[in-house]
Amino acid sequence: MGRVTFPERAVEIDLDALRHNVRHLRDIADPARVMAVVKADAYGHGAVPVARAALEAGAAWLGVAHISEGVELRRAGIEAPVLAWLHTPSSDFVAGVEHGLDLGISGWELEHVVAAARELERPAIVHLKIDTGLGRNGCPPEKWDELLRRAVGYQDEGVLRVVGVFSHLATADEPARPETDRQVQLFREAVAAAERAGIAVEVRHLANTPATFSRPDCHFDLVRVGLGIYGLSPFADQDSADLGLRPVMTFSTTVSTCKEVPKGQGVSYGHAYRTHQATTLGLVPVGYGDGVPRIATGAPVQVGGRIYPVIGRIAMDQLVIDFGTTGLLDTPDSPVGRRAVLFGGGDAPAVEDWAAAAQTINYEIVTRISDRVERVHLHADTGVGDDGLA
Ligand SMILES: *Cc1c(COP(=O)(O)O)cnc(C)c1O
Repeated sequence: MGRVTFPERAVEIDLDALRHNVRHLRDIADPARVMAVVKADAYGHGAVPVARAALEAGAAWLGVAHISEGVELRRAGIEAPVLAWLHTPSSDFVAGVEHGLDLGISGWELEHVVAAARELERPAIVHLKIDTGLGRNGCPPEKWDELLRRAVGYQDEGVLRVVGVFSHLATADEPARPETDRQVQLFREAVAAAERAGIAVEVRHLANTPATFSRPDCHFDLVRVGLGIYGLSPFADQDSADLGLRPVMTFSTTVSTCKEVPKGQGVSYGHAYRTHQATTLGLVPVGYGDGVPRIATGAPVQVGGRIYPVIGRIAMDQLVIDFGTTGLLDTPDSPVGRRAVLFGGGDAPAVEDWAAAAQTINYEIVTRISDRVERVHLHADTGVGDDGLA
């Protein structure tokens, strides 16, 4: 069993950390069950290996936005319940029904799903979505009774089965805000109306990651957790460790060229930065072509256990860090060829540091890492030793 050499640039996905997070969220949600949300290639972590690891750790459901994402899971041999909730008239509803996906319905999709079910002579499984205040997808409350009537009609015909009612929260990451109370109340009313209309609602689901942590009254039968399974915190004032989570993704590369430059050297396009002293610059070979946000100048990069800020403009393929000293080159301390960690677990910079530098949220930082960066899944096989490399 040889050592695996580290790729030039990669995101490592620690599937043991992911399993830990899923188990932790299961404990918090219990007796509600966990839907692991693996849309957008599992927030950049790789949908199929993440889905498998989440199911191993006890997730009961998988959630995706698009039917095509659900079909990809089925093609990989994943048979667990999968819900897909974001459609257009161009969505392949036939594929969705054929692959046994559960389909989220906000209104107009119902007739498309029914047409697909008739064509396949196979009932569709649907979850009706009520807009309790987010103002995006979901049936407006004033049209809910009509949607229920249509759904019950089709259910009586045998072309579909309604198993779920769900909604999505707008402000759960700020637990003190009152909007969530109103959304919970509307959700309860929508479920009650569905039951009065003759629907046996098996799964009621409302909570995302923040509500799973902060609002037990939102757990119902199932919680839909994305961010949390990736080990990241949705709250501004609590980090991963505060929530008992372990960050799953580590993004690193290898220091390329290093050079000594005099005071006043302009760095990168536009010379937006000039060195304050004679120093050593390090070239880190990742840029916005790899999904590094171009505006994240100042974000931290860890080399040899120390943290250095990104200076100057981030380019398509590369960024520059300032080691702040001279005399490093041609010594055993030379940074050339060393591992440069942008973010990860342990003592590495956090995803949140990059999010702050890029004026965005941790969700976006991990999700936007591009396909140019290889994904390396660690501990994919639960049956092997702690290095996960069989
Ligand atoms: C993305 C998404 C989730 C997961 O949200 P997190 O905050 O990442 O847990 C849950 N439900 C729906 C409808 C979503 O679109």
